[in-house]
Amino acid sequence: FHDRDGVIWLDGVFVPWRDAGLHVLSHGLHYGGAVFEGVRVYGGRPFKAGEHLRRLAASAAELGYELAWTTSELERAVTELIERQGITDGYVRPVAWRGSERIAVGGAGLSAHTAVAAWEWPHVFDPAKTGISLATSRWRRPHPDTAPVRAKASALYCTGTLARDEAEAAGCDDALLLDWRGDLAEATGANLFLVIGGELHTPVPECFLDGITRRTVIGIAAGLGIPVRERRIAPSELADAEEVFLTGTAYEIQPVAAIDGRVFGVGEVSASIAKSYADLVRGRAGAAG
Ligand code: PMP
Repeated sequence: FHDRDGVIWLDGVFVPWRDAGLHVLSHGLHYGGAVFEGVRVYGGRPFKAGEHLRRLAASAAELGYELAWTTSELERAVTELIERQGITDGYVRPVAWRGSERIAVGGAGLSAHTAVAAWEWPHVFDPAKTGISLATSRWRRPHPDTAPVRAKASALYCTGTLARDEAEAAGCDDALLLDWRGDLAEATGANLFLVIGGELHTPVPECFLDGITRRTVIGIAAGLGIPVRERRIAPSELADAEEVFLTGTAYEIQPVAAIDGRVFGVGEVSASIAKSYADLVRGRAGAAG
């Protein structure tokens, strides 16, 4: 992905895409001092960029450091980058990491670096596929005392990568992760919703991100008069679900057609949520959330 034309914003300067490097002795690489974001661009405009950039700062704070740039400075960088890159429907990837002044686990006194990249990227999964397949992973989301689970921290994606690779090797599109207790948690890059009796049921975000898309969907559901239940959900309750879908900045509203071979319909509720979400992100009239 490094061998491309274009520019990347790196610590306040637009540098050629191929030259956007960091030092190999960075804390962010060795000891997990890195956080990131994903922002979608629709029709040339970033969706909820401010919320994402505030979460970037909050994630860094969870790891014990402060970004060198304010949210509004980073918002300006995102806007200029989208223009320079000529993005219409794409994705923006802000990332921050602790620097290379020392090689030590402790992070006190290290510099904080930030980069933002953006590229044209219309879909994560094949849009011709009506629903994706999930395989329950042997990897679980950790107890909140085990890791900074509310941060979008690179280090937490280590199990996500293992889970995703194992699911793909088993012929599925993505993994379903349980929490440390064995209840339903999320996918590797998206939150989980079940439709049971026409209502939305979604796990409580105790050990995974309370996604910006998740909260947007909860708002959309309220506008559509669809009740939402946030609660602990056992995997056995998948048997009661009429529909299942995932929510995330990159995934958007992604219907799930099967989990461990159990088949779900891609039904009305998912479709109405997906339609409202599409209207909202593209700023079309009638959108709520
Ligand atoms: N969980 C994980 C592990 C993710 O990577 C993401 C994507 N950021 C989400 C949930 C959904 O978060 P959001 O809706 O804010 O993109």
